[in-house]
Amino acid sequence: MERQTLFVDVIVPVSIPNLFTYRVPLELNDKVCIGQRVIIPFGKNKLYTGIVRNIHENAPSAYSAKYIETVLELTPVVSKIQLKLWDWMARYYMCCIGEVMNAALPVSLKLASETKVILHPDLNIIPENLSEKEELILDALEIQGSLSIEDISKIIQLKSAQPVIKKLVDKRLVMMEEELKQRYVPKEQSFIGLHPDYAESEIQLNYLIEQLEASKRSEKQLNVLLSFLHISRQSQREWIPKKELLADENITESPLKTLQKAGVFLIENFEINRLSTGEEGQESKELSPDQNRALDEIKSHFDKDKNVLLHGVTSSGKTEVYSKLMQEAVEEDKQVLYLLPEIALTTQIIQRLKKVFGDAVGIYHSKFNPNERAEVWGRTMTNGSDKYHILVGARSSLFLPFQNLGLIIVDEEHENTFKQFDPAPRYNARDAAFVLAKMHGAKVLLGSATPAFDSYWKAEEGQLEMVEMHKRFGDVKMPEILCADIQKETRKKTMRSMFSSFLIEQMEECFKENEQIILFQNRRGFAPYWQCGKCANVIQCSRCDVSLTYHKRAHLLTCHYCGYSQHPPKKCGACGSSELEMRSFGTEKIEEEIKLIFPDKVPKRMDLDTTRSKYAYENIISEFDEGKIDILIGTQMVSKGLDFDNVGLVGILDADQMINYPDYKSFERSYQLMSQVAGRAGRKKKRGKVVIQTTNPDHWVIQHVIRGDYISLYKQEMYERKKFAYPPFFRLIEFTLKHKDEHLVNRTAEAFAKLLEQTFKTRVLGPDKPLIPRINNQFIKSVLLKFERESSANRVKEIVQNAIDEIKSDTQMRKVRIIVNVDPV
Ligand code: ADP
Ligand code: ZN
Ligand code: ZN
Repeated sequence: MERQTLFVDVIVPVSIPNLFTYRVPLELNDKVCIGQRVIIPFGKNKLYTGIVRNIHENAPSAYSAKYIETVLELTPVVSKIQLKLWDWMARYYMCCIGEVMNAALPVSLKLASETKVILHPDLNIIPENLSEKEELILDALEIQGSLSIEDISKIIQLKSAQPVIKKLVDKRLVMMEEELKQRYVPKEQSFIGLHPDYAESEIQLNYLIEQLEASKRSEKQLNVLLSFLHISRQSQREWIPKKELLADENITESPLKTLQKAGVFLIENFEINRLSTGEEGQESKELSPDQNRALDEIKSHFDKDKNVLLHGVTSSGKTEVYSKLMQEAVEEDKQVLYLLPEIALTTQIIQRLKKVFGDAVGIYHSKFNPNERAEVWGRTMTNGSDKYHILVGARSSLFLPFQNLGLIIVDEEHENTFKQFDPAPRYNARDAAFVLAKMHGAKVLLGSATPAFDSYWKAEEGQLEMVEMHKRFGDVKMPEILCADIQKETRKKTMRSMFSSFLIEQMEECFKENEQIILFQNRRGFAPYWQCGKCANVIQCSRCDVSLTYHKRAHLLTCHYCGYSQHPPKKCGACGSSELEMRSFGTEKIEEEIKLIFPDKVPKRMDLDTTRSKYAYENIISEFDEGKIDILIGTQMVSKGLDFDNVGLVGILDADQMINYPDYKSFERSYQLMSQVAGRAGRKKKRGKVVIQTTNPDHWVIQHVIRGDYISLYKQEMYERKKFAYPPFFRLIEFTLKHKDEHLVNRTAEAFAKLLEQTFKTRVLGPDKPLIPRINNQFIKSVLLKFERESSANRVKEIVQNAIDEIKSDTQMRKVRIIVNVDPV
């Protein structure tokens, strides 16, 4: 019998809008399957990992198909449902399937030939019984430090080095450099414990302390020992992570080593399960009658195959309701995806969920290194006993390989961090959740105290069912919201830097009650910058139309858009004056001021700068929880769903900045943000207070926040949006055109808008200059397309694609990059 020739269409992780057809070598005929990873030659002499999308017998007519090099494993790593989701996403968000693949697969599953390989940092001794090729690679790495996969192919004289590299990765001998960039956190940690001689005998221990006290020379050792005892006793742990002990500035390594040598301390490396907090499950709360009612309502809608929006005021106990729903899904052996807008939030939620579900909870987000991500991936897909039933994560966890998804919960669904801005796919995980759920026959629950107006509208239209919770759990009152009139105080000269005397008074009162404070500063436009004291010229990026942001510790001015950086200049570029100075209203500045006003209080910032490392959020949050921090100063991060017991006061430092942002959603957003931040005040025992600093206390958005009147703000906004043709009544597609040549961008944008106008007439807005008209020396123009919700989105996108294709057929204009953003937020 003649054997058939098979072809596979492969998804390649590049921005080209096609699948690529390859020929299957005969010996692999019965090994290929859909969703499997294959190594394929691509372009001149590159190798990529691709995913098999289709298997068939049709040779491509336009080109002669190359052979796939090899298959990486015998089973699919991506399920058919996932592939369907990828297809949908590429179509709906008008991007390439390869871009979706890039976003969806964890790095460790998609080696590309430019990827750099390095020795595994934990590698001490190179094991014996390696193959010759493996040894060659390790030798070369020892000399060179890092090698690309292409380099390695040359060294071992194999066209495809991936299988060998994969083996080395699996043996933990090498790793991909990206992994290290994302901060490699060793699986093992050093722990310190007392030698049993001392741990078990108080007398011995006291004798030792006396000895150390007796000599000035052992003062440092005494310090270490006492700190250890303090931490150990307070937390009732026998072993303390070395890191934790060294976190104290007064403690250094060397006395620790001395005590180890003297046999006082034992230092041991323990394997800590990266993804486990070691907590066991089964601590579930009794629901209140109101929670039970909400739960029943949700379930009865689910039974009728309806998805639900849970609109419950802050601290109404939504999380406990989710928890019950998850429990029921898990009992039916279904998986649950719990989407959160920001990983800062996962910390607290995870702790709560682990208490109920133990090790069945997996976490997935960008601060995990690729090995951890791959591990979560595997434990989502498995049917083994280590299967995750509950997956908690930010938007990308939508791409996990669920087996039998039963429920997707989108918490704080109004947050725009569910939308990915850059790069493509520019998807919104909240919206895509509905598509994924449908594919699995699963339900969706959106939850928020301040639902996105779009979602609320869908509920009104009957596309979603709405369930409401009006009261805080335990009948705690909603916080009292007060305004500080900045304009008045400025006139009366009672402002102290950015603090009104009113806010300072309220803070003092709060401290009298031994309560904690959260101060919120909007992220936009607060970054510290340098300005000329004479001519007010602000130092700008030379490549972008933005001012440079000052980083104090590094004494550098950097551009947040293109990454350019320089030292602050000595002279003003505009007038030559040397009176340059730093200006700032950022969290760093707020922290400095706070230290001056309340010298005996402990402030701490939570913003992008202080939370870069993986456990930074957790540390700050738990320190605040434990009362080690008096004032938490933060940006958007502090607004979202955090749950503290002892916050008496929340201060919103600059409400005007939010309200005045030029965007059709700015009122909606300001309302959400202020209400959410306010919701952090006084959650458990008593009524909290909120102070909003503004120049316009009568502004109607602020008035609505004070009254907690979501509905009437919503109604007013809907009226405006309908009148001016904005979502939810119309859909939007935003186009961003970029090129170095300003004239070419302008010309192209004009031509493109004209093409769209042929069909969409006045529904095309622009071309406009965006807020930042130049980034990294690329000039930018934007075009906005609105179309009726009722019109066929597929048809609209077809027309749009045709217009883009027409531009791309022009030899000049094709050079301009056109970025398509469907449903911008
Ligand atoms: P939301 O998510 O609506 O903001 P949470 O679920 O965080 O509210 O609940 C607010 C507070 O009330 C939390 O501290 C939570 O532990 C507590 N709480 C909620 N429901 C219960 C319950 N049924 N039993 C005990 N405590 C509860
Ligand atoms: Zn100047
Ligand atoms: Zn720049």
